[in-house]
Amino acid sequence: MTMEMDMIKPTSDSIFCNRELNFDSLDCIGFDMDYTIAEYLVPAFDLLAFNGAVDKLVDNLGYPESVRNFAYDSNSFVRGLLIDIKRGNFIKIDRHKYVRQAMHGLSEMSSSYRKVVYHNTFNKVDSFSNRDYVPMDTLFQLVDASIYAQLIDLKDGEEYEFLDGKTYEEMYRDVRGAVDLCHRDGVIKDEVARNPSKYIKKDPGMVEMLKRLRDDGKKVFLLTNSLWEYTQTVMSFLVEPSDTPSGDWADLFEVVIVGSAKPKFLVDPYQQLFRVNREDGSLQNTDGVFEIEAMNPNGAEKFLAKGKVFQGGNWQHLQAMLNIESGESVLYVGDHLYSDVLRSKRTLGWRTALIVPELEHEMRVYEDERAEGKAIEALRTLRKRNAENVDQLKYQNLQQGGGLEKEIEECEAKDEQVKKLLQPMADSYHKRYNPTWGQLFKAGYQDSRFSFYVNNYACIYTTRASNFKFVSGQRSIRTGIEKMPHERRMDDWASLQEGAD
Ligand code: IMP
Ligand code: MG
Repeated sequence: MTMEMDMIKPTSDSIFCNRELNFDSLDCIGFDMDYTIAEYLVPAFDLLAFNGAVDKLVDNLGYPESVRNFAYDSNSFVRGLLIDIKRGNFIKIDRHKYVRQAMHGLSEMSSSYRKVVYHNTFNKVDSFSNRDYVPMDTLFQLVDASIYAQLIDLKDGEEYEFLDGKTYEEMYRDVRGAVDLCHRDGVIKDEVARNPSKYIKKDPGMVEMLKRLRDDGKKVFLLTNSLWEYTQTVMSFLVEPSDTPSGDWADLFEVVIVGSAKPKFLVDPYQQLFRVNREDGSLQNTDGVFEIEAMNPNGAEKFLAKGKVFQGGNWQHLQAMLNIESGESVLYVGDHLYSDVLRSKRTLGWRTALIVPELEHEMRVYEDERAEGKAIEALRTLRKRNAENVDQLKYQNLQQGGGLEKEIEECEAKDEQVKKLLQPMADSYHKRYNPTWGQLFKAGYQDSRFSFYVNNYACIYTTRASNFKFVSGQRSIRTGIEKMPHERRMDDWASLQEGAD
């Protein structure tokens, strides 16, 4: 049997690796809740925020009645984009911060206009990190983007005096405020509590996964920005009473921290820790008590016996309660590009797993379009070769004092033909992923900003958290051999020679 035949086909169940991770060396595995443990049903869930925010814009902030006619399309925007709130643009940048695509509202900006607007920005070290740019780092922001884009088009139509008096930035802040309020005033959460099965996907593998990790000796914790009441709603929907001996979902976890205010939880050593009284949701400050009880050797167990659900606090509390000595022994699984993976890895040295539900679609298209992808790659390689050939001819021409002009011209014309063939092929290939934004992991032929985050801050990534049920506690998740461009070029050349033999 060949090695290839033994290989398991990569699917949406697979876990992909950027940095080697040995499960044996992990003591603790923590989970974020929203979009990690809890997968939301789209568009039903998004529509709660969308409709709620649209109503608030009209009813509370005086936006025109026609805003109520806005439609929500969850495919109009993707994670990883930046919103330029000064100009009303959405931009996709590559890993070098070069703007590859831009939309103004819902209209695509021409490449020449895009270059005029952004060509000075991309080279600055801090470009795109100031307050004019809002990174779309979570799926929650697809709603903000959709409303904001439609408002921009409405303003540009110049039909409404009210909108003439608003800047793009003010409109963004209004949208942000309206969506934010929906997360806090019950528009979303009360409705989810009334009808959880309409909004949350029940994945039986999730409980199985949490149990398997515990059985493998890992300390499992929940660390979420959701407050207690909502966490209780979501978790008691996802975990059946029959799933644990006591009937209590919290028994799947060593410690539960709600209202954690990540990323603050990961960086602010002064955020206070409260114990949540699960009967009525009331909070009890642990100041002083924590230091006396939990910081003592073997004190954590006694401290947790009094109740293991907390609100707020910071990583020091968590690490003390779980007896964590080194960040390297913690794996945190979350969906937020910044809070869950970048901050936890950079500040605390935790190992990180990013949940990328979009990956399922990306992998399906990649497989379906493999032939097209290969053809594009071959044409791209041909263009590289053409450019080298032209340069070689030019050099030769220079050395011999002319005579090769015709050959050079022919070579350039040949390349022009390849370019004409390649462009529409690459465009239609990209549109197969997303009609507007193309492949999530690419911006042009380079890695996108989204890819950059995944590569640099997520040790591993997968479509859904329940995939960890396939991983044994002893497993080492390994990377392939990383290759530099010169190594790839040499490999390409060698395989070309082998093909020619
Ligand atoms: P996590 O992903 O489990 O940490 O929790 C995310 C929480 O943040 C959920 O309770 C969301 O409802 C909440 N959330 C998301 N966007 C906003 C917002 O714009 N304002 C307030 N809360 C938000
Ligand atoms: Mg989350």
